[in-house]
Amino acid sequence: MIVIDGAQGEGGGQVLRSSLTLSLLTGKPFKMINIRAGRQKSGLLRQHLTAVEAALQVGHARAEGAEMRSQTLTFHPGTVTGGSYHFAVGTAGSATLVLQTVLPNLLTAPQPSHLVLEGGTHNPFAPPFDFLEKSFLPVLGKMGAAVQARLEKPGFYPAGGGRFVIDITPLPQLQPVDIVERGEIVERRARAILSALPQHIAERELAVVARKLGWEANCLRPEVVRNPRGPGNILLLEIYCEHISEVFTGFGSVKVSAEDVAAQAVDAARRYLASGAAVGPYLADQLLIPFAIAGGGSFLTLPLTRHARTNMEIIGRFLELEISSEQVSEKGWLIRVGA
Ligand code: AMP
Repeated sequence: MIVIDGAQGEGGGQVLRSSLTLSLLTGKPFKMINIRAGRQKSGLLRQHLTAVEAALQVGHARAEGAEMRSQTLTFHPGTVTGGSYHFAVGTAGSATLVLQTVLPNLLTAPQPSHLVLEGGTHNPFAPPFDFLEKSFLPVLGKMGAAVQARLEKPGFYPAGGGRFVIDITPLPQLQPVDIVERGEIVERRARAILSALPQHIAERELAVVARKLGWEANCLRPEVVRNPRGPGNILLLEIYCEHISEVFTGFGSVKVSAEDVAAQAVDAARRYLASGAAVGPYLADQLLIPFAIAGGGSFLTLPLTRHARTNMEIIGRFLELEISSEQVSEKGWLIRVGA
């Protein structure tokens, strides 16, 4: 039995989610101890428990310790089966992270899948739905995967109440890809999304984008979400390049000024643009498992985050696959899978 210390490396929910995915992929059971031990609210929270439940259902698996606040989980995988599934986090916890737990397995299941996911869709510290749709899924598309994503209702932190739908047409095997250049920028879009908040917040955020990034007025869009469960605001900076698209996000929050929300996204976009890398730091950690499943591929990214290094370690616990990282320029790191 593979024993994983949930407190290792980054020590958050990703150690758990990646282990669930890799266990279903390889058929190897695992025991995890110290789940999220270093976090303020340790153990399994609603979002993590929903991810465990999703893996249990999709993989006909069984588990011990799948309870709220549990710090130990034993997971015995079964056979992954596509089909219709409904996963509801029940809080504003991230539903996109629940999807990312089971998506890699369903891509190569024998049957197609239709998934309804409910919970947070635009959470701090998680991929917003738009990142999933415009950045993550298109890379899977290059690898051969056919995944349709449709946002039905955004769910902002802290109210939640979001919902999206995913349709997967499976394929026998993900194909390796190399993403070492981003190519020319073909389009930029700054979207300041508001739900039940004053319009001036969006205007101030977009003004920061215009001033600091020099984006022209036709790239700047205030958007209003109707009938939300609660207030919410995010700023999305979408950068569409010839070979890849990236989405950088500023998350609105009480006591954070619109200018500071915009600065979060602008600073992340600037770092990416200045680096010359193709793959941004969030996308980098999220691509490691699909690339590992494909058994190869490479990408040029920024210095590796703790999330990325931890994910490499977890992959190494389940698969015999070399993943190398080499600094190739001042801010560029080349990741090679199966090299
Ligand atoms: P964890 O903190 O272990 O629950 O993992 C969080 C996951 O969310 C990681 O895979 C991050 O790459 C991802 N993530 C966090 N913030 C963002 C963001 N702003 N955009 C895209 N992905 C994100």
